[in-house]
Amino acid sequence: MEKLVALCKRRGFIYPGSEIYGGLTGTWDYGPLGVELKKNIKDQWWKSMVQLREDVVGIDAAIMMNPKTWEKSGHVKAFADPLVECKLCHQRFRADKKDEINEHGKNNHPGLIVDWTDARQFNLLVKAYLGIIEDKQSEIYLRGEITQGAFVNFENVVSSTRVKIPFGIAQIGKAFRNEITPGNFTYRSREFEQMELEFFVKPEDGEGDKWFEYWKKERMDWYKSLGMNAGKLRFRKHEDTERAHYAKYAEDIEFDAPFGWSEFEGVHHRGDWDLSRHNLSYVEEGEKYTPWVIETSGGVDRSALFFLLNSYSEDGDRIILKLNPKLAPYKVAVFPLLANKPDLVSKAKEIYDNLKPQFMVAWDDRGNIGKRYFAQDEAGTPYCVTVDFQSLEDDTVTIRDRDTAKQERIKVDRIHKYLEEKLT
Ligand SMILES: [Zn+2]
Repeated sequence: MEKLVALCKRRGFIYPGSEIYGGLTGTWDYGPLGVELKKNIKDQWWKSMVQLREDVVGIDAAIMMNPKTWEKSGHVKAFADPLVECKLCHQRFRADKKDEINEHGKNNHPGLIVDWTDARQFNLLVKAYLGIIEDKQSEIYLRGEITQGAFVNFENVVSSTRVKIPFGIAQIGKAFRNEITPGNFTYRSREFEQMELEFFVKPEDGEGDKWFEYWKKERMDWYKSLGMNAGKLRFRKHEDTERAHYAKYAEDIEFDAPFGWSEFEGVHHRGDWDLSRHNLSYVEEGEKYTPWVIETSGGVDRSALFFLLNSYSEDGDRIILKLNPKLAPYKVAVFPLLANKPDLVSKAKEIYDNLKPQFMVAWDDRGNIGKRYFAQDEAGTPYCVTVDFQSLEDDTVTIRDRDTAKQERIKVDRIHKYLEEKLT
C-alpha cells in the first residue's frame, strides 16, 4: 500500500488535496495520469451501462438540490453513523468499527485504559449556505449520494424519452459526506465520485429478484472484463442490521485490498422506498403503480484505487502497472532513440503528431531508452514506439509491449492499425 501511495504521488496519479496548505483531511487531487485513469473508468462504465443498452438513459443532475429531497429520501433523519468518542483525546470513531477502536487505544494511548463515550448519532450530510444576503441565506446540503437526482427526474425522463419499464437512469457525479474517519488513502473520502444506475421494474417479487441477480452478474463481469483479478473479488450479503434505511436487500462487490476485503460497489434492492417517498408513480396501460428500484452504486475513486492495486507488480527493481489498455492513462509513448539527432527527433515527432488525434500519446526524449521504458511501465503505458537509425532507412519502428517487454518491428503506416487492434 505504501508503495502504491508513493507511486501515485511520484508519477502524478493522486496527490493529497490542497497539499501546500497542509492538506484537507479526506480530500484528494488527481494529477495528469490519475485524471486520465478516472476518465477511462467512467467512459468504459458509460459505454457498457448507457451506450450499448437500449433500456438505459443517462442524466447529469445538480449537486445542490432542494433540501426537501433529503427530508423525503430519509437522509436527514437516517443518514447517520453512531459515533463513540475517546475520552482521552476526543477523537471520534464509528461505533461499529471495533478494530479501529481497539487499534486507537493500542497506538495512541499505549499502557493506558481508554474510556469511550456512549454511541451518539452524527449526520453525514454536508451543509452549505446559499444566497447573497447573509441573514437570508438558505441552508442546503451538498448531495450525499447522486441517486436522488435520478428519482427527482423520474417523471421528466419518462415524459421526454421513449423509455418503458423495465428501464434505467444512469449517472456519474460527485457526492459529499462528512465522514468521521476518512482513511486508507482515497478509499474513504469526504468528496468522491459515484457511478450509479437506478433500474425501475414492476413491483413484483419475481421481477425484483430477476433484475437484482441480473445486475449483480453484469457488474461483477464488468470488473473482470477490465482485468480485475477474479480471485480478489467477491460478493458479500448485507446483514439485516447493516442495511441502509432504503434497502430491501443489498450485496456488495468487495476487493481483497491490503487493508482487508473492502466494498467498492453495492447492488441494492431499494423496493419502492424512494419513488413512494417522493410521491412518484408510473402508468402503464391505464394501470398506475409505484415501480421498484434495483440500484448499482459504484465508486469511481474506489475503482481507480482498486484497479491500481490490482495492476501493481514488480520485476526486480522495475515497477509495472499492468492496467488494462482501455484504462491506461497513455495508450502509447513515442521516443526518438537519441534526443540530439534531428532526423530521429523529427521522424518521431511526425509519428507522435499523427497518433495524437486518436490516442493519448506520451512523448519522452530524456535520458536513455531503458529509463524511458521504466518510466512508461510505471505509468502503465501498454506500448512504446521507438524511432531508431533503421527507421530512417526502411520506415519501420520498434514497438514494445509493457507486459512481456518484447519488441517487434513494424512499418510506420501499420502503427495505427496495430494499436487499434490491441486497444479495442
Ligand atoms: Zn484517544
